[in-house]
Amino acid sequence: HCMRSLGAAEKALDLMVRRGINREAFGKPLVKLGGNTEIISRARIDIEAMRMMVLKAAKAMDVLGNKEARVWISMIKAMVPERVCEIIDQAIQMHGAAGVSQWTPLAGMYTQQRTLRLADGPDEVHHMVVGRHEIRKYQGGEEDASLASVWRK
Ligand SMILES: Cc1cc2nc3c(=O)[nH]c(=O)nc-3n(C[C@H](O)[C@H](O)[C@H](O)COP(=O)(O)OP(=O)(O)OC[C@H]3O[C@@H](n4cnc5c(N)ncnc54)[C@H](O)[C@@H]3O)c2cc1C
Repeated sequence: HCMRSLGAAEKALDLMVRRGINREAFGKPLVKLGGNTEIISRARIDIEAMRMMVLKAAKAMDVLGNKEARVWISMIKAMVPERVCEIIDQAIQMHGAAGVSQWTPLAGMYTQQRTLRLADGPDEVHHMVVGRHEIRKYQGGEEDASLASVWRK
């Protein structure tokens, strides 16, 4: 799911930039108006960061096994669809009314990503897994060393 979500984010960013370059308002391309350059920058930065997180979760599944990797899996399930929803929403905004029409795939993509925030367990449950794990480290519970060393294995 998260890998497909990253593909959707790439598509949304691609559409956002094309639209921002080609559409003018107030005599300027949209990319030069408001905070649109920063919106594009933040989308690229976060897509790359999410890709690294997904890779790390996959690596954790490989080296620790699915049970031990559950915290990493919950982290990406909580983070990726939420941020991808936001990136698609920003692409919709850059498209104006066309963004919510059938002229672009964006509205459908948004619905798919929004659904993921429920379908694989609601966001809150993933945050509960991650938050509980973090808190237990301070209560003499779960040892975090294996998670911290995922990359070294
Ligand atoms: C398209 C789709 C596909 C699905 N596929 C599957 C599937 O393959 N297998 C499967 O088992 N289920 C599947 N589901 C069900 C999905 O896991 C549930 O819809 C989801 O867990 C939320 O449960 P609910 O709809 O009963 O809502 P509720 O349990 O009523 O939850 C409603 C809201 O309450 C809040 N909430 C719930 N639990 C907590 C919590 N612990 N802490 C804080 N807030 C909480 C969340 O905001 C949540 O969205 C699918 C759902 C959809 C929409």
